[in-house]
Amino acid sequence: VKREGKNGYRFYSPDLDEELLFKIEIEADLRKAIERGELEVYYQPQYRMPDRELIGMEALLRWKHPVRGMIPPDRFIPIAEETGLIMEIGRWVLEQACRQTKSWHEEGQPKVPVSVNLSTQQFHQPDLEFEIERILVETGLEPQYLELEITESMMMDATLSIAIMNRLKRLGIRLSLDDFGTGYSSLSYLSMLPISRLKIDRSFVMRLEESGNERAIVTTIIAMAYSLGMDVIAEGIETEGQLEILTGQRCLEFQGYYFSRPVPPGDLFLNAADTSQGM
Ligand code: C2E
Ligand code: CA
Ligand code: CA
Ligand code: CA
Repeated sequence: VKREGKNGYRFYSPDLDEELLFKIEIEADLRKAIERGELEVYYQPQYRMPDRELIGMEALLRWKHPVRGMIPPDRFIPIAEETGLIMEIGRWVLEQACRQTKSWHEEGQPKVPVSVNLSTQQFHQPDLEFEIERILVETGLEPQYLELEITESMMMDATLSIAIMNRLKRLGIRLSLDDFGTGYSSLSYLSMLPISRLKIDRSFVMRLEESGNERAIVTTIIAMAYSLGMDVIAEGIETEGQLEILTGQRCLEFQGYYFSRPVPPGDLFLNAADTSQGM
């Protein structure tokens, strides 16, 4: 064990060893996860008030690890990003989500779009628009039913990011800005992005009922979205109170446990009244 200045044994603490082992193990297991069918895509519905109309759903990746059980995406996606495995996983999620959505449309379910999260590496993949085009053609999903969720943190270079987004837009798909408010995009920059929708981050929604500051921020985000001609959706709605505050501020689109957790595809249209399933 080596001393690390005033932090003592920090670097060689058992916690860190465990974390490192976890990473090594996860990386190896993740390589096999797709072939072994351990990955699944869950879907979380999005609604518009006041009628609770279904307006879309977000595809969220799940990994049922044979030994460790369910591993949340926040735990393994960063590792997949580091190792480059995210490219294959991201492509797989896109294919699944488009195929599933097309098959819902064919079954006569509401014709609503699916939102798929893009990773930083995917966003910068040079042939991304061709890959997406191929997936749309292969699955038969019309482009207006695919929305890609992008975050501010992906856009290190403004000019480059706008060029990438414009190429994607040409396919006829939609783009949304996820986790909005947690990054640092300037207003002038935001107005140049070909984005149809802002997603208000859950961290603001969470504190809405306690903090006037959060209410002020959210009021500003909503006003800004509308003045730029964008829609706005709030994520992570858990309570009636949050819903009331937000509808009072003219935010009408919602996604959160209050309505439904993300559920496996088979459960989404089973019983709209039952929101107790999923995770
Ligand atoms: P995100 O894109 O911000 O997704 C929303 C997260 O909030 C999801 O967590 C969802 O289950 C959770 N959530 C939704 N409503 C509520 C609520 O009312 N309360 C609480 N406490 N949580 C709520 P999840 O599924 O664990 O995903 C976490 C993150 O992992 C996502 O955050 C996204 O950044 C990433 N992720 C998930 N699937 C994919 C994927 O296919 N590709 C990529 N690149 N990233 C993904
Ligand atoms: Ca998202
Ligand atoms: Ca989000
Ligand atoms: Ca988030």
